Amino acid sequence: MEGLPETLEDLLERSGGSIASQDIPLIKRAYQVASEAHDGQSRMSGEPFIQHSLATAATLVDLRLDGATIAAGLLHDVPEDTAVTVEDIEETFGEEIAKLVDGVTKLRKITWTSLEEEEAESLRKIFLAMVDDIRVILIRLADRLHNMHTLDALPQERGTVIARETMEIFAPLAHRLGMWQIKEELEDLALRYLEPDDYREIVELLSERSANRERYVDGVVNTLRKSLAEEGIKAEITGRRKHISSIHRKMKEKGRDFDRIYDVCATRVIVDDIKDCYAALGIVHSLWRPIAGEFDDYIAMPKDNMYQSLHTAVVGPEGRPLEVQIRTWDMHWTAEYGVAAHWRYKEQVERDAVLEAKMAWLRQMMDWRRELVDAQEFVDSLKTDLFPEEVYVFTPKGDVVELPRGSTPVDFAYHVHTEIGQLCQGAKVNGKIVPLNYQLKDGDQVMILTAKRGGPSRDWLNPHLGYVRTSRARQKIRQFFRRQERAENITRGRTLLERELKRLGIEHESYEEIAKLFRFKKIDDLLAAIGYGDINVHQISTKLLDVETEETLPEEGRPSDLPSEARGVTVTGVGGLLTRIGGCCNPLPGDEIIGYVTRGQGVTIHRMDCGNVLRVLRDGDKERLIEVDWGEDVDAAYPVAIKITAYDRRGLLKDVAAIIDAEDVNMISASINTRKKDQIATIVATLEISGMAQLSRVLAKIETLTNVLEAVRQTD
Ligand code: MN
Repeated sequence: MEGLPETLEDLLERSGGSIASQDIPLIKRAYQVASEAHDGQSRMSGEPFIQHSLATAATLVDLRLDGATIAAGLLHDVPEDTAVTVEDIEETFGEEIAKLVDGVTKLRKITWTSLEEEEAESLRKIFLAMVDDIRVILIRLADRLHNMHTLDALPQERGTVIARETMEIFAPLAHRLGMWQIKEELEDLALRYLEPDDYREIVELLSERSANRERYVDGVVNTLRKSLAEEGIKAEITGRRKHISSIHRKMKEKGRDFDRIYDVCATRVIVDDIKDCYAALGIVHSLWRPIAGEFDDYIAMPKDNMYQSLHTAVVGPEGRPLEVQIRTWDMHWTAEYGVAAHWRYKEQVERDAVLEAKMAWLRQMMDWRRELVDAQEFVDSLKTDLFPEEVYVFTPKGDVVELPRGSTPVDFAYHVHTEIGQLCQGAKVNGKIVPLNYQLKDGDQVMILTAKRGGPSRDWLNPHLGYVRTSRARQKIRQFFRRQERAENITRGRTLLERELKRLGIEHESYEEIAKLFRFKKIDDLLAAIGYGDINVHQISTKLLDVETEETLPEEGRPSDLPSEARGVTVTGVGGLLTRIGGCCNPLPGDEIIGYVTRGQGVTIHRMDCGNVLRVLRDGDKERLIEVDWGEDVDAAYPVAIKITAYDRRGLLKDVAAIIDAEDVNMISASINTRKKDQIATIVATLEISGMAQLSRVLAKIETLTNVLEAVRQTD
């Protein structure tokens, strides 16, 4: 931006006629009121106060904002620093301008870095109001921009606070609003104050090479201009200066040296319409070889802050990498001025519809915050979301997801969908399992492993554990715990259980016993599990009947002594047929079963949910399926495969075998397999089991062994 205006005439001239003529008297009046109110006041820098008002207004003029905003910019410090009140302003200038000035006054009272509860609350209100009139924040940004120019006049301590606040809040805010020019200027000014040595070094390095660089860029621009003209494309082509703070950031972040960053020259091509954008891209790619993976089509897929352009990088003359941005003028204004670009066209009604769509992201960003009760939380979340550093990662399908730097797979999961966040159990990054507090890096491909049911872990909310970076994820996790209806599920579970026990005529069974049977420590856990549907009442009755039967059985004549042909399965309706237990699914008494009539081998008994049965049901010979039921003869033994997962140790298999033996269960086969990588051992064994209760007991005992993680019936 050019030099600052010293008089009202300078300001009006600066607009180059962009201010609507009917707004000029309004701006003149605002200037008059402001200069009278501030008369005799001067800034820390020594200049008359009105210079600051003019400088603020100048930025708003540069942004081509409307008359009301420019007038409010001139008046923005009046209520705070002079005898003139907001009410006075409303009387003279009307409600619109008074509201803008009032909003800015409130906003500037806030110290972002050390917020008191009360301030946070007013900030919250202002930000919510901002959604209705974003011009408040535009005035505040213009105000801050000039303050940054005069920072040296302040005491060091105060200056540091302001510079840091600019870096942390205002520059990111400008970025979010798509206002590149202001964002970059704010960042450079803050960097100059906060890291003067680094800043000076980069400036010196830049000036040393500027002659050489300008020659190079001029050559590129000329070549491009000629080629575009030959194809009849009207275009404005400029070299693009790399920003000091962005060079600084790259040097810091990637540890790259100045030469490598600086080496990349950048040009910008601005054309009349979208068709020409793609035509120009084709010409660029025909002139120089494109660098693979460097092409981005932000026209087809605009960024969140409505930015649109084509980006490509090519191997330019002399083999130097060259970045090219291609856009229309419309896109250019949006890129430079962001939301402010709207007011340039305020008189065109159809533009409002476009703005509405573009503003949607801002509303979205603000909307869910209305739910936040705690003001401090609101401010924290805002700071988090405004933070400009992003990390770009990929979904398994290859879609790009943009997250704040420091985000984890949990943040990713919640970003993709709330439900995926709630069910997130683990994550793979680039094909490898990572802890859920892993910090995502650019280019990571993230796959979320979900459970069928369940919810987030409370640990995720512990900031020391680093599971969650985004405020959105944190908010959704809290919401989950708030909405979790455990109490309701306990009640539902109790009703279901009561009804089932009554139906079975086993009302004497204590809930405590049932809970124990299902290995729940507390009755409430059992009832909740029933309520959630983790356990169905059929499983309960099966298990209870199993227990009852077992208790009434005589000790002698153990099932395993019986020949396998005598295994007690009664086939309903075709009694006497030879039956066999299906080796594929090994059903146990209590399982829902079905029979399959084989050719010449009688009936094979399968579990209802056996894959083979499902296949027959879908496209096999359904006629061969017959209803079967478990007979009276429960004292038989059935082969059951179990799977034990454990951290490997010496004697593990021996200890498992000892438990099985102590339960007087026959082990038909066993194998152990240890994964070298993590020393996880998997034991697969086949046992001869008489029923569910026995199986449950054996598994429970195995699980008490040292190092054993899990012992389960193998279901597949
Ligand atoms: Mn000010």
